Order: sequence, then structure tokens, then C-alpha cells
Amino acid sequence: MSAHTQPQTASAVVACPFCSTLNRVQLGRLDDRPRCADCQKPLLLDRPVQGRDDHLSKVINGASVPVIVDFYADWCAPCKMMAPVLDELARERAGELLVVKVNSDQNPVSPQHFGVRGIPTLVIFRDGQEVGRQVGFVPKAQLVKLLDSSAP
Ligand SMILES: [Zn+2]
Repeated sequence: MSAHTQPQTASAVVACPFCSTLNRVQLGRLDDRPRCADCQKPLLLDRPVQGRDDHLSKVINGASVPVIVDFYADWCAPCKMMAPVLDELARERAGELLVVKVNSDQNPVSPQHFGVRGIPTLVIFRDGQEVGRQVGFVPKAQLVKLLDSSAP
């Protein structure tokens, strides 16, 4: 018997942090240590991944699991408070959801596209559709609640 609880079909599209190549990762097989198809470096999904203007839509639309997008900036104090919460959530729910961090200063198009007016803003997507949004810092329990209440 496999210890995996995720259906073998669950997958997500993530950008390689080293070479930016988009890779489709089978989330039921994270123990096999997925690697970038281009540069062969490891793709680590037990932590947030970086999202950029040029590929964010593909990442959001490419996941069969919920995607939490964190629009943040380096100078924003509540964003810094939010970071360990998102790290924890990504680790605890690795393979069940995707946490994507978007640096709003370096990626000005995406926040505008998604109507982000303040940071941090967390937007939850399922099947490419927005199903939840949180503006400002939120403790983990409340974020989990928002995430679970967004389930179909
Ligand atoms: Zn790569």
C-alpha cells in the first residue's frame, strides 16, 4: 500500500527557481523529489514558490489543487509577519495546495490584474477561479478556515 493520500492525478505547474522553466509536477509523487526538466535542479514544493508576471496565470490555471497567491513587498511589515504562516502552511499541506508568493514591486502587472489594492493580499484560487480573498495579516487558523470554507 502506498502512503500517499493524494490522487496520483493531482498536479501543479511551477516555475523553476533557478532557470524559470515551467514544470508540471505530479503532487502525489513529491517523495520522488521532482526536478526541473531543463536544469535538473530540485523543485521544492514543501515551501512557497515564487510567482512572476510572465507566468502567474499559467501557475494559477495549471494547478488541480487550491492555489494561495500572496501579493507582498519587502518593505511591508505585515507581509513579513505573514511569511512564516505561509511557510508553515506550505510545509504542512505540501502536495495538497500550492503557495505562490508574488513580489508586487518586481511584478506590478499581476496585482493590478487581480485588483490588489493593499498588501499583503492573499487570493485563493480553485480551478483558476478566485474563491477567497484576505487583505492584511491573518493568523494561520483563520487562513485555514478561509481555505477550507472555499472548498466546493
Ligand atoms: Zn530549472
